[in-house]
Parts: sequence; structure tokens; C-alpha cells
Amino acid sequence: MSPNAEYFGSYRGRFAPSPSGPLHFGSLVAALASYLDAKAHHGQWLVRIEDIDTPRMIDGADSDILATLDAYGLHWDGTVVYQSQRHALYQDTLNTLNKLGLVYPCQCTRKEIKAMGGLYDNRCRNKSLPQSQNAIRIEQHFPITGFNDAIQGRVDIPPSLAHEDYIIRRRDGLFAYQLVVVVDDIEQGITHIVRGADLLEPTARQISLFNQLKQSVPFYSHVPLAVAKPGFKLSKQNHAPAINKTNPMPTLHAALRFLGQPVDSLENYDSSKALLQHAVQNYDFNRLPKVPEIQVRPTAEDSFEFIPVHR
Ligand code: GLU
Repeated sequence: MSPNAEYFGSYRGRFAPSPSGPLHFGSLVAALASYLDAKAHHGQWLVRIEDIDTPRMIDGADSDILATLDAYGLHWDGTVVYQSQRHALYQDTLNTLNKLGLVYPCQCTRKEIKAMGGLYDNRCRNKSLPQSQNAIRIEQHFPITGFNDAIQGRVDIPPSLAHEDYIIRRRDGLFAYQLVVVVDDIEQGITHIVRGADLLEPTARQISLFNQLKQSVPFYSHVPLAVAKPGFKLSKQNHAPAINKTNPMPTLHAALRFLGQPVDSLENYDSSKALLQHAVQNYDFNRLPKVPEIQVRPTAEDSFEFIPVHR
């Protein structure tokens, strides 16, 4: 499609990698999809390093990710934001929710929740437990039982999951992803979120938190997740290799094909810059594949075969 005219010039998108390792093909796809959608709308494309979950972070992965984006010509607007430097912002939101009486400490263990059938039954709501040593949950007053994703279509959420009070600060004191991602998207004025379909289900809670905080909900589009085999996301755990930084063209070309975008054969481009420029100019939202997963099989160095995985 031609990009949504209403957002020309006011579009703000983002790529939000967790620095738990170098960029692999799957994370490049998410970066590229959000970049193309932003640039085709003449929008801003921001990069946010999601380094809140400190135990999972790898030293130097953030600068490696940024150097890789640079090598692929995916240049971001403004300054890169680091979640590890934004604790005051998250604490402010927690304090606001606390003053409104919307959050409470919970001491339930994983084992106890498993015994409840896998979903927490909101039993600590009226217990007045101490805040320290306990997780903090938000009362779910804006349950989302379904939403429309711009690519994946209707997403239904089981009502019991939609009504679960969820954790916004972990027992170890770290702010939870579900809180920080929404606080950051609000603070950075993000209008469009384009990311991998592994985040489809968590989107419902994010929408509910936007509603709870009385903020407008961004436009969500989830591109297929790159998987090693059905159900297995490409990741460090299953040995997804870091993408080639010195010769980006073949991998960039493969990522555009993964995203169903119109590209000529590789020999027709002089540089990765020319390839990316062509991709922005010819971006076609309607060609983004409407499947939740695509299997990626390496066939030779920097070359891949793609097999869509249907629901
Ligand atoms: N940091 C998350 C990840 O790397 C992405 C979060 C998001 O795009 O909302 O999976």
C-alpha cells in the first residue's frame, strides 16, 4: 500500500533491541521492517537499547548492534536511548500508579502460580504485603480480549489471560518489560510499532497499559518471526549466526525478500545504500507476509531459503 498519508511527517517509529548478543537475521528483519515503514512515511526512526534486564545483557552487545545497523545503512534519528539510564522515569510512573491505588505487592511463586493452573488469580490484591522482596503487580482494569494487528489481523486473547493482574516490577527490583516498553513508547512519542510477531500476545497488555495511563495507543504491525524451525525463534540459543557486517548487501537483499518486498536481483544494485534506497521508494506494506513465522534455512554463505509457516 502507499503509506498512510495521515502520518506523513508526524510518524515516529522505533527499533528496540535487547543487547543480549549481536544482531542475527531475525533481528535485522525487525530493524529493517520498522525502518522501511518509518522512512516510507517520511517519519523518524529511533533506536532504543532495551538493557533493563541486566542479568541477560552482554557487555559490548549494544555498540556491536549499533555498528551493525550503521553498516547496513540503517541510520537512526536523534540520540540512542538506554533503558538502564531511565529508572527515574519508570519509578515516576510506578509512583503515579501507586498513588492511584492501582498496584500491589504479590508474593506468589512460580510454583504457586503453576498450581493455580498457570495463570495468577489476583489473590494478593487485598493482602497489604510489604513492597520490598515482593513483585509489584498492576490491577487489570482495562482487559484487552482482542485487537487488530495491521498485518496479522484479528488477535484474540483468552479472557483469563486478559484479566490477569501482571507484574510491572519484579521481585528482584527490576522494572518489567511490560511497564518500561509502554513508558518509553509514550515518552518518545512513538506513533507506529513494527516488530516481530513473537510480541503479538504481549501487545494486548501494552494496549491495556496505554489505556490505563490515558494515552493514545500506537499503530501496531507485527512482521513474521524468523524461525529456525516452526516454533523456534532464531536466537543465540539455537546458534543463529551474527550477520555479516563487512558485506551487508546479500543479507540485506535476503531480508527484503523475507519481507516480501519488490527487489531486483542483487547484481542490479551498486551498493547497499542503493538497495536500501530502492526498498524505501518501492516499499509495499501489503506485501509484508501475513504469516506469524517464516522458517529461514541457510543454503550457502549469506544466502537463505524461506519457508512460510502457516497457523
Ligand atoms: N527488546 C525487545 C526484543 O528485543 C523488543 C521490544 C519491542 O519491540 O517492543 O525482543
